[in-house]
Amino acid sequence: PINCEPLKSLVRTVPDFPKPGILFYDITTLLKDKAGFAQMIDAFAAYYIDKDVDLVLGIEARGFIFGPALAYRLNAGFVPVRKPRKLPAATAKVTYDLEYGSDSLEIHLDAVQPGQKVVIVDDLLATGGTMEATTQLVRQLGGIVVGLGFAVELDFLKGRAKFPDYDVYSLLHYN
Ligand code: IMP
Repeated sequence: PINCEPLKSLVRTVPDFPKPGILFYDITTLLKDKAGFAQMIDAFAAYYIDKDVDLVLGIEARGFIFGPALAYRLNAGFVPVRKPRKLPAATAKVTYDLEYGSDSLEIHLDAVQPGQKVVIVDDLLATGGTMEATTQLVRQLGGIVVGLGFAVELDFLKGRAKFPDYDVYSLLHYN
């Protein structure tokens, strides 16, 4: 895999966002950098190019920003996984626990055909709850998850441990 460590200088950390005590990792500063953005997509593409990927699934909202660029490079389609009540046609829905309360994600029922190979991407892996819910949606539709891709992984939260059966690839790791 390509060494993405130099891209770390392009990720901005914002203290106390969205609430006090949270350190937010902001990839907008990486995305707007033309060399940084290219390297990011190149790294993902290099990793997945030989995996015969049919679809890239992006998780709302930041998975929508770079997922389509990756899909284009892989000659794959792009599928949005969305917050409730955004998708117009029939959906599958999964509800997952948050620190306080719960959240849901939806996918169009016809977005993934049984047997299709899917890579799911999001900007950041924290506890892994969001991604785990998304893998459930893909399994429900009969898709094969060939990879979980993240720009940033917060190693200390051990979200990766939720995915013993999946290939987890993150460009940047923080401890
Ligand atoms: P998890 O479900 O705990 O792994 O949280 C990951 C989800 O929350 C992803 O959809 C991220 O976009 C979002 N998230 C959590 N922390 C951050 C952050 O520091 N920066 C950007 N997104 C974050």
